[in-house]
Amino acid sequence: MKSVKDYIRTIVDFPHEGIMFRDVTTLFADPRGFRMAIDQMLHPYAGMQIDKVVGLEARGFILGGAIAHQLTVGFVPIRKKGKLPGAVISEAYTLEYGEAVMEMHDDAVKAGERILVVDDLLATGGTAAAGIKLIERLGGEIVSTSFIIDLPELGGRKVLEDMGMDVHVLCE
Ligand code: 5GP
Repeated sequence: MKSVKDYIRTIVDFPHEGIMFRDVTTLFADPRGFRMAIDQMLHPYAGMQIDKVVGLEARGFILGGAIAHQLTVGFVPIRKKGKLPGAVISEAYTLEYGEAVMEMHDDAVKAGERILVVDDLLATGGTAAAGIKLIERLGGEIVSTSFIIDLPELGGRKVLEDMGMDVHVLCE
């Protein structure tokens, strides 16, 4: 039987030369692959109280929407700067070259709400760490973080664990 990893395609030299891009669109496009990924991401949280799923732009929206639907809870997007229409809070984080900013609506999470954070891939952890800071600034309690892929050599898992996060991944 195929595993989640078997549905993920690698594109060489995207978006720059020397980068091996892990392309999850082939996983999302396959009905068995997509269901398997969602079911496996949900598995550790059976019976746990989760009030909202927060997804990180952009592939975290696809996964987070399906997971929130399955849990019958709300979904909240964290987006790149300038995309959300309402009042936002922002967190800057460093990229290989320069800086990026993630934003969340300032009323999207209420103090004490139990949050599951979702994205497709954990690399340096910068994107997820910025998202975690936004949720925590609004008083959200992060139950766990969930990713399809971890790239262990980039250290993101340790970054999140050092912030006190529970981290679940389906493959490396
Ligand atoms: P980090 O902030 O952990 O360094 O990078 C993770 C973010 O970049 C995630 O939002 C993820 O979607 C994106 N990303 C970085 N490299 C890849 C890759 O090879 N494949 C995919 N699908 N996303 C990537």
